[in-house]
Amino acid sequence: MQSGLNILSAKGPTSAHMPSTNETLSLGDLKGWPESGVNLAVIGHPIKHSLSPLMHNAALGTMSRSHPELQTWKYWKFDVPPEELPIALKEMQNRRFLGVNLTVPHKVLAMRLLTHIDPAAEAIGAVNTLRLGKDGYEGFNTDGYGLVSGLHEDLGLSCHGADVVLLGAGGAARGAAIELVRQGCKKLWIGNRSPRNLDEMILAVERVAGSIPVQRFLFSELPSDLPSNAIVINSTAAGLDQESPAPIQLRSFPRPLGVYDMIYKPSRTKLLLDAEALGIPSANGLSMLVHQGARALGIWTGTQVPVVVMRDAARAGLRTSPA
Ligand code: NDP
Repeated sequence: MQSGLNILSAKGPTSAHMPSTNETLSLGDLKGWPESGVNLAVIGHPIKHSLSPLMHNAALGTMSRSHPELQTWKYWKFDVPPEELPIALKEMQNRRFLGVNLTVPHKVLAMRLLTHIDPAAEAIGAVNTLRLGKDGYEGFNTDGYGLVSGLHEDLGLSCHGADVVLLGAGGAARGAAIELVRQGCKKLWIGNRSPRNLDEMILAVERVAGSIPVQRFLFSELPSDLPSNAIVINSTAAGLDQESPAPIQLRSFPRPLGVYDMIYKPSRTKLLLDAEALGIPSANGLSMLVHQGARALGIWTGTQVPVVVMRDAARAGLRTSPA
């Protein structure tokens, strides 16, 4: 494995030649990074198609009209493989990157590299937002907030007092489940393709669920007592590939109140097409992406964030991004 110093000696911008915020950067680009301005970034692997720089830079542009101090803020994207995450965060800390978003595969890996973790993120076991503190980064998780905001915005649904069926037991599902019980859902069913992640996740969720019942199921063995009028949320990766089947067959499911798919590209997954065909209100995960981002920007700037500007930027980015 390359040492951090070797990675950083590869190349780097000078203040005379800064890259564009649309470019995908790597650790080497941090060499000679100018001191001026306030920097934010998303780190992932892969990261090329991330809409986050578009959303955040559009919002910062609008916010800087009423907050001139934000004029020097910029949001970048860095492709960082998992083995380089510790050195990447160290170098970003040295270069005073104020905020960092984390996406696949870093959300769990980063937990041990932080000086403080927000209790909700601790319960989830994953972080997607870091803020630079005095001695290092503090971790938060805004995915669950993004989900409940998206459900409300797109489908007019509140999880409080509702039966919720959550599909999936990966990182996104964990964030969702913790927020759903924090919101006071009536009962939470969690289903998955395979048992290992599911059983681990059920244990973690039960620790914070209090009196809210949490029931597990496998997609191959749907329980007979699944509720009708539930909110169904897909947090599996089934649907990312347009050829693969939906994680569950909605036709053999008690009729839900609404179906939300965290996937936003493709914009209409098989699950959402099935919901449409059955006349069930449905929405994709673009609103979740926008709201988790807006919450992160609020944590960094401490001020109100123009969600509409972020949404327009994300939609425009999706229209022009390759299939
Ligand atoms: P993980 O890799 O952590 O989890 C993947 C989950 O999908 C697991 O439950 C896995 O099941 C399941 N899965 C994968 N392939 C299939 C399949 N073919 N059929 C059924 N189940 C399958 O990923 P994340 O939790 O981080 O992300 C999950 C999804 O959520 C992704 O599509 C991602 O794009 C989306 N997402 C959207 C966000 C937004 O802002 N809109 C934010 C975060 C994520 P098993 O345990 O059996 O392997």
